[in-house]
Amino acid sequence: HRIPSLQLNDGRTIPQLGFGVFKVDPDETERIVLDAFEAGYRHIDTAAIYRNEQGVGRAIAASGIPRDELFITTKLWNDRRGEAEARAALGESLEKLGLDRVDLYLIHWPTPSAGSPVETWETLGALRDEGLTTSIGVSNFDERYLPEILETGFVPAVDQIELHPQFQQRATTSLAAEHDIKIEAWGPLGQGKVDYASTVIGEIAERHGISWAQATIAWHLQSGRIVFPKSNRRARMAENIAAATVQLTADDIAAIDALDQGEAGRVSADPAEVS
Ligand code: NAD
Repeated sequence: HRIPSLQLNDGRTIPQLGFGVFKVDPDETERIVLDAFEAGYRHIDTAAIYRNEQGVGRAIAASGIPRDELFITTKLWNDRRGEAEARAALGESLEKLGLDRVDLYLIHWPTPSAGSPVETWETLGALRDEGLTTSIGVSNFDERYLPEILETGFVPAVDQIELHPQFQQRATTSLAAEHDIKIEAWGPLGQGKVDYASTVIGEIAERHGISWAQATIAWHLQSGRIVFPKSNRRARMAENIAAATVQLTADDIAAIDALDQGEAGRVSADPAEVS
């Protein structure tokens, strides 16, 4: 499969379609990530809190895929705020991944109850300058939390937020667009919690002879977002990556855009409440 790439605001490129490993059992991660590589994925999205960085690292080592063909993201967990903690945490993640740098390092949540994220964010800037991560970004920083980050002068390359047809986060995506910050959509399929097959997405999928998941992934890709749907199953890994070749019409895109329910469409945690 030819996976399209996007250029980030720091000049780097990112494969627009990847594979996420949230809730992938640490004991099965090596095999599942090797299956994902076999299916053609080269971009892996993990996090310290997923407790499966070691499995991702073992899969990378076993795969024999040249490092520069891979794009590996991990994330700083909420209890590692401040300069010393953030430095130590990235070191631990690199050790587990068996890498000397990641491609993208994110602050996982804004955790407003822990105070300002500015010192932590500036530390990520220093870690990037030192080459321990190629790019830096934030996750779950919606329009309430992004402005404080932007004031530092370090612009995130990406903002990774919950985003799927019924929850499109328009205020955050337009603020991000103003600063050329790419949106990474997590839960791109609604985490299996929404019956998208019974919406207009099911009709669109039928017309194109594809699945509702492929139609949804294609909608993200054609809207300029980065996605990494998760599945433990090889058939779905293949199905999801094949969405890169789907061409939806402008009308299809508009029909899916119209499914947005604003705040009511959220299926996971509100960043204001995550500590
Ligand atoms: P997702 O929307 O990718 O949904 C995954 C679920 O959808 C699977 O468990 C499976 O049940 C179903 N599914 C997958 N492919 C399917 C298909 N082809 N047909 C039918 N059902 C299918 O949700 P996610 O895993 O939460 O999000 C993707 C990735 O985003 C994660 O693995 C993780 O890397 C990242 N993420 C980040 C955050 C964050 O706070 N930054 C939070 C959640 C997820």
